[in-house]
Amino acid sequence: MAAAAAVRKFRPIVISGPSGTGKSTLLKRLFAEYPDTFGFSVSHTTRSPRPGEQEGRDYYYTNKDAFQKLVDENGFIEHAQFSGNHYGTSVKAVKDVAEKGRICVLDIEMEGVKQVKRTDLNARFLFLAPPSLEELERRLRGRGTETEDSLLKRLTQAKVELEYSRQPGAHDKIVVNNDLEEAYAAMKAWVVDGGKFGVQEE
Ligand code: 5GP
Repeated sequence: MAAAAAVRKFRPIVISGPSGTGKSTLLKRLFAEYPDTFGFSVSHTTRSPRPGEQEGRDYYYTNKDAFQKLVDENGFIEHAQFSGNHYGTSVKAVKDVAEKGRICVLDIEMEGVKQVKRTDLNARFLFLAPPSLEELERRLRGRGTETEDSLLKRLTQAKVELEYSRQPGAHDKIVVNNDLEEAYAAMKAWVVDGGKFGVQEE
């Protein structure tokens, strides 16, 4: 099947939500449980790798010039700036997943979500929300991956993302990550059951 047709058949899933809400943790579990069903869209980023992250698995790490070159070549489906760095989903990243006959999962921020909505990807949108901003700050600090500056930028952006998520129709589904097990069950039910039949009725 041509990649574009595969992408349309297997509707991509876009997961967004404030940094620190637990998107990566939940997605890692989903991929471990369904290794042949889903495929992660590996984004490009200009931020530095965190300890434990791997080139080509978590991100393609790049620099500003190379990123801009890919923008100029129309190599991105969407791209945005977040907390002082550039992030983007390349056309190739999504094609790579589609060619394997898997449902493509994108982990992207709000501006990317808006851009994907304007494409013909026919994606399904899930928003993962923290129980509160206080809890989000606690988790982000506990993670220990950010400088104070980066942490504050992420918290400021979290408010914007939460605001957007309250707009009617912004997402197809909202899951609050209060308890990891419950959040995973809710995410899985929506992602797997809806995805199986390519429907999106909520
Ligand atoms: P982090 O630096 O914590 O890995 O990611 C920061 C934010 O960038 C997260 O909200 C994540 O979802 C988002 N992000 C990751 N990849 C992309 C991408 O390709 N495009 C967009 N728009 N956002 C991304």
